[in-house]
Parts: sequence; structure tokens; C-alpha cells
Amino acid sequence: MIIFGTRGVKTTMDQGDFTCPQCANNQAYKHKKVTNFFTLYFIPLIPLGKAGEFVECQACKGTFVPRVLEYKPELGANEFQSVYEQAMRHSMVLMMLADGEIDDNELDVVLQIINKFGHNDMTMDQLQAYVSKVQSNPEPIGTYLKKVTPSLNEHGKEVIIKCGLAVAGADGHIDDSEIAMIKEMAQTMEMSSSHLKGIMADLMKKEEPSFSDN
Ligand SMILES: [Zn+2]
Repeated sequence: MIIFGTRGVKTTMDQGDFTCPQCANNQAYKHKKVTNFFTLYFIPLIPLGKAGEFVECQACKGTFVPRVLEYKPELGANEFQSVYEQAMRHSMVLMMLADGEIDDNELDVVLQIINKFGHNDMTMDQLQAYVSKVQSNPEPIGTYLKKVTPSLNEHGKEVIIKCGLAVAGADGHIDDSEIAMIKEMAQTMEMSSSHLKGIMADLMKKEEPSFSDN
């Protein structure tokens, strides 16, 4: 029997230091490209073309679009970070408010997410103060998300959607208002509906919503 197929092979094109948006400081990166190969007995034989490129942070293993290398601290990497944090905070809190109720589980999940993906840890008191602020002035979910979108690759978008789903599911059920908000987030980030469906289908298979960034 002849076993053949295709496989993506990653090769490092170059490496150096960059300002990692997730670590918010200077880190080593590898700029990699993925080439699809025709394989025979699992051995890559014939390159079929380039499948994509990404920049991988060697510290947090986050992956980013190559354009991230253009961010220089003096050109506002902190600004990018704070926009990312703002977008994460704002969209997670709006997600929590989507069904009109705030429960303790949801607050816990939101706080965990904010502190996992941000670099200015919040306390529960600070989060609650922020929630009241958002409640009194509920800006559309796209307000901050739109600003961070050009810097996110598909993986980065997926992380945000999965976090949103984790918040939505924290009270034990995901209802229509929450699904509508997830769709709005995906639309803002220009995520294809098939990509979103894939994430949702994946999630339904698991018992617990997961927001790991592996
Ligand atoms: Zn990093």
C-alpha cells in the first residue's frame, strides 16, 4: 500500500527581537513560513507552495501576523498593548452583560481572562468599578475591537472569540443574546462565518469552554 498525503512544513525564515504584543515587552521571535508538501510515506517530497507566514514569540509562543515586526516601542507598542487590553476588557464585560445578569462565575471568568491576556492585573474591585462604568456608558462592542483587528492574525481572533464564549458559558448556558454578540465580535474582526462555525462546533464537543492559547 502506498501512503501519500500533504503536510505543512514550518521553516524559520529569520529571527531576532521584537516587541511582543502579548508579552508587552522585548522578546525573541522566529519568523516562520509554512510550506505544504506532498508526502510519500510521511516524508515531505514535493513542495506545493507557501501556505502562510507567521511570527512566533519565543517567550509566550503567541503567533502574530508578520506586520507585528514593524511595531517599534517608540512607535507606540504600548499603545497597541493598551488597545489590545482595552478591547479584551471591554468586549468581555459587554459579553458578561449581554444576558442582562451578572453572576459571580462570570465575574471570575472575566477577571481570569483579563489577567491572563493583559499586563496590568486588575483586582475584583477594579473589575466591578469598570463594569459599572461600562453599564453607565455601553459603547458598541466594536469600539475597541476594531482598533486591534488589523494587528490580529486568525489565531489571535480565535483567542478573543473563545474567551467570549467562555464568558458567555460561565453561567451554565449560552443564550441568544450572547450568540448574537459573539457573531458581532467575529464580524468586527472580519472573521469568516465558516471559521466562527468551526470554533463553535469545536466548543460544543467539549464540556468546558476553553480559552487556552496553544
Ligand atoms: Zn510573547
